[in-house]
Amino acid sequence: MEPQEFANENTILAHQQDGTLDEFHRSYDDAVETVRNELGEAHSLVIDGNAVETETSFTVKNPGDLDERIGEFASGSAADVDRAVGVAAETFESWRRTSVSDRVEIFRRAADLMRDKKYELAATLTLEAGKTRAEAMAEIDEGIDFLVFYAGELQRHDGYRLGTGEPTPGQHCSNRLEPFGVFGVVGPFNFPFAIFAGMTTGAAITGNTVVAKPASTTPLIAHRVVAILSEAGLPDGVVNIVTGGGSDVGQPLVEHEHVDGMVFTGSRKVGRSIQKTFLEQDKSGPVIAELGGKNPVIVTDNADLEKAVSGVANGAFGFSGQKCSATSRVYVDENVIETFTSELVSKTEELEVLPPEHEGAFVSPVIDESAAKRYRNICETASEDGTILTGGDVVHSDALPEGRYVQPTVVTGISHGHELAREEHFLPFVTLHPVSDLDEAITKANDSEYGLCAGLFSEDEAEIDEWFGRIESGMCYVNRHQSATTGALVQAQPFGGWKSSGTTSKFAGGYWYLQQFMREQTRTVVGDVGRE
Ligand code: NDP
Repeated sequence: MEPQEFANENTILAHQQDGTLDEFHRSYDDAVETVRNELGEAHSLVIDGNAVETETSFTVKNPGDLDERIGEFASGSAADVDRAVGVAAETFESWRRTSVSDRVEIFRRAADLMRDKKYELAATLTLEAGKTRAEAMAEIDEGIDFLVFYAGELQRHDGYRLGTGEPTPGQHCSNRLEPFGVFGVVGPFNFPFAIFAGMTTGAAITGNTVVAKPASTTPLIAHRVVAILSEAGLPDGVVNIVTGGGSDVGQPLVEHEHVDGMVFTGSRKVGRSIQKTFLEQDKSGPVIAELGGKNPVIVTDNADLEKAVSGVANGAFGFSGQKCSATSRVYVDENVIETFTSELVSKTEELEVLPPEHEGAFVSPVIDESAAKRYRNICETASEDGTILTGGDVVHSDALPEGRYVQPTVVTGISHGHELAREEHFLPFVTLHPVSDLDEAITKANDSEYGLCAGLFSEDEAEIDEWFGRIESGMCYVNRHQSATTGALVQAQPFGGWKSSGTTSKFAGGYWYLQQFMREQTRTVVGDVGRE
């Protein structure tokens, strides 16, 4: 079977190619204005299509301007999870029997609605999560791509149903994938639209029903996703949303006896705990988890240093390093490390720290107080155990509102084995390490529990071949000046990790993703009665 024809949304690229970037900026600025005027509302849980109130709620604020309230959100409890799972379990029977073409149609309609609202959705992401306009629109595009691509794949495979013939006379056989039942969807704050929508679509389009819990810092955009699915015609009860904390809502969801599978993106710690719970409860359904990274980049003495500097600065500091794919450790050949370092420091110092909705903004505020505290702690350790070449401080400026702005930080003098070079920090923080050759660089790059993204800068074909042959990473990028390790397009660059960076080694936005939400069944009928 040929791969489906598929085109990425690529909004900004299209405007660049058409020479209409001004139009993009105008539409985005207008949308920020519109969304700003609608902020501050109260949001309930949504169970079976109904708003469900809770006794308590939590407030979400704009990380770039703490005086701006995003909204008030219902704090769910184990009882709310139980109710939502009950509804999802009841709805499963009718939803799984809904035809593949009807399911596909609903998700295609939802993608169309997202496309119509893309500027408002991007503006919401900026205000709630602190993404710059370019990062926000790229994420909305990715979310739309997930829906369109998964719908196309399910249709292309006829819902994963195959006639497998008559192996011996009279035995009529077929093989198919069937949904499991109820899926829990738990999402991260850093791609709260694309990953949340992608995981929810993966579970629901394949015939499962869903109880979804977004990250507590980014529930508004998740509500927007669920509202769009409903507007597109998704029946009530297929996707339910229960907002609230990880231990109040996430944990009871994972532990619920009628939750058959989990799809999760977030930290390794929580991902592993979900796996452990499933094992302890003897659940046979899948835990599809995409976890963290500690993404290494190698710069050899055959690298084009301009490309390498640009790739590392963009990879390490885009969205303030709050990406699982962020560049976090760089192994540089000792013959070029001096030049590379001084150019990277200059480039880093040019990056503008501005409110994320401003056109020139590049470095985003960090998401919450615990991220800001982590930043202060690791910078203190870096200054004690190594050298901070640039950055290392929170940003105070009269030009900025009261927000969580921190400086992008470049550190040297830290050994490869130091915790700063081993643990994921999820902050704009990168360590540089001299190496004597490619062999040492690859050995050190691979010496990590993670295996999500990796980058190489070299103009030498033999070095590129060797690196591809040995690097232990799901996503591998060579000479990517746009970003050494971040940024993947649905279909062409399916996204996921090896080792502790994931649990299934199948990637989001790729050809093997949907099958994970289903279980196989072989059917045999002898004779003609009941043949499919
Ligand atoms: P967390 O693991 O802290 O949180 C992720 C989600 O899990 C949140 O919704 C959180 O809720 C919830 N949660 C917390 N505790 C529990 C629990 N005990 N049981 C069930 N759910 C729980 O990750 P972050 O949101 O901070 O996201 C950052 C992490 O995500 C990084 O490690 C990053 O590398 C990873 N990530 C990986 C990606 C990949 O594709 N590999 C992509 C994007 C991110 P609450 O918000 O209420 O605490």
